[in-house]
Amino acid sequence: MSENKPKKEKQKASAEPEIMEKIVSLCKQRGFVFQSSEIYGGLKSCYDYGPLGAELKRNVKAEWWRTMVHSREDVVGLDASIIMHPNVWRASGHLAGFTDPMVDCKDCKERGRADKWPVAAAGTEAEYKVIIDHQSGKKETRKAAVGALGIVCPNCGSPNLSDIRRFNMMFRTSLGSVDNIDTIAKAVEGKNLSGEELKKVVAAAIEETAVYLRPETAQAMFTNFINVQTSMRMKPPFGIAQQGKSFRNEITVEHFTFRSCEFEQMEMEYFVPPPQYADEGKDDMYWYNYWCTERLKWYSDLGIRKEKLRLRPHESTELAHYAKACSDVEYDYPWGWGELEGIAHRSDFDLKAHEKASGKRLTFFDSQKNAHYHPYVIEPAAGADRTALAFLLDAYNEEPPPPGTTEGRTVLKLHPRLAPIKVAVFPLVKKEGMPETARKIMSEFFQNQINASYDEKDAIGRRYRRQDECGTPYCITVDGQTAQDGSVTLRERDSMAQERIQVADAVAVIKKRLA
Ligand code: ATP
Repeated sequence: MSENKPKKEKQKASAEPEIMEKIVSLCKQRGFVFQSSEIYGGLKSCYDYGPLGAELKRNVKAEWWRTMVHSREDVVGLDASIIMHPNVWRASGHLAGFTDPMVDCKDCKERGRADKWPVAAAGTEAEYKVIIDHQSGKKETRKAAVGALGIVCPNCGSPNLSDIRRFNMMFRTSLGSVDNIDTIAKAVEGKNLSGEELKKVVAAAIEETAVYLRPETAQAMFTNFINVQTSMRMKPPFGIAQQGKSFRNEITVEHFTFRSCEFEQMEMEYFVPPPQYADEGKDDMYWYNYWCTERLKWYSDLGIRKEKLRLRPHESTELAHYAKACSDVEYDYPWGWGELEGIAHRSDFDLKAHEKASGKRLTFFDSQKNAHYHPYVIEPAAGADRTALAFLLDAYNEEPPPPGTTEGRTVLKLHPRLAPIKVAVFPLVKKEGMPETARKIMSEFFQNQINASYDEKDAIGRRYRRQDECGTPYCITVDGQTAQDGSVTLRERDSMAQERIQVADAVAVIKKRLA
């Protein structure tokens, strides 16, 4: 969870537009990501995953689930509701403290997060540009001293900023058939209230039915700690994992799907014995380091270049008061290093907070040690959208034409397990029984749950290029030789190497390569 911590995204302004524009354009053209409600002019920061994007994100989530849940005895899954009892958010601290620092520029009216704006030493002179003629857009350069906030506007460079106001990022709605407007109208009717009094009355009326869209998936793992532990007879160290939508009313939405108001998280709470009950050599810090290593490795195992990944331990000033340690897995995005996932050591804060607020005991009884204790929690918290974007950026390649040819190619070198389409099947020409054979191969793939795509349009070279842009790792072409010896061409995306395989072996060959 992001309580008030300073952000560490270095800016690399120059490289961003070019590569990001290309990715955004490819995402639209090839059906990965569309602007939401585009025919109505779009809605800021809302995105729809198209056919290939939906596959990519499902594959990212499936890989995470496979690694975090299905490959381990010590982690089980959960699928909790998005709307929870409002007391959950009181106890967790989100109602009081899930805020971002909002600041306005008095010159150009830019609004944003103070912890993201460019830093400048207080008292030094900052030069900035002000529009003096709105018709022609003519600007004048001015100078002013940087204030105590120590930041300047990212848009015009001005140090003339408003005070910082805290802005709660949770989306509030109401549950039940009571109309808030009626309740408010009744509460204020006939009363001559001052502005402050009015605010209090309205807030109290809204509060009666207020519920919140979850800003993280984690809290349900704490509130269900006893349910899961007892029903599955789990013993620390053990984890509860969940994937699902989270919502944050972000002040600044940025960099395509990197930061939006509706996104998907992949979180796991790993409950470990507190130090006095830990097994020799496997205390809470051992598990914290273990998960930092495991989570960093997950991204490189799925193909992200190692030099584009790093683990950044938080400085003590960034840590929440209860956290013993925290590190971010960061990716070197076109605009600089940014968070992919946070791994936090949350001590026993959450279980104790919910125990206090609910009055229900949230401890584990260790029968061997004859002790009741509150487990400590290590939380690897990742975002499916940011991860999918990082995979796309890292996979994007523009290759020059091979020697002796004139046509280069754009290729998404996605890990085969992440690729939306696993194999494309082409008849070389639309005659001589080739389409029929290709369709038969297609249905074999479908019967084996391998996502395949059929294409018979355009020259074979163009069909390969189309699949390269979609990240399809393998293409199979049925040609004249197929009818004679039952063989087809298998072409590999990255090397473009071609070999002949038997039609009868096609499913087995692709399955082996996807494993
Ligand atoms: P940031 O520092 O970028 O605001 P955070 O530290 O608040 O992120 P966490 O609360 O740790 O993020 O959430 C875990 C993960 O959820 C993040 O690492 C990120 O991948 C994802 N995430 C968080 N906020 C957003 C968002 N607004 N849009 C997309 N993904 C998000």
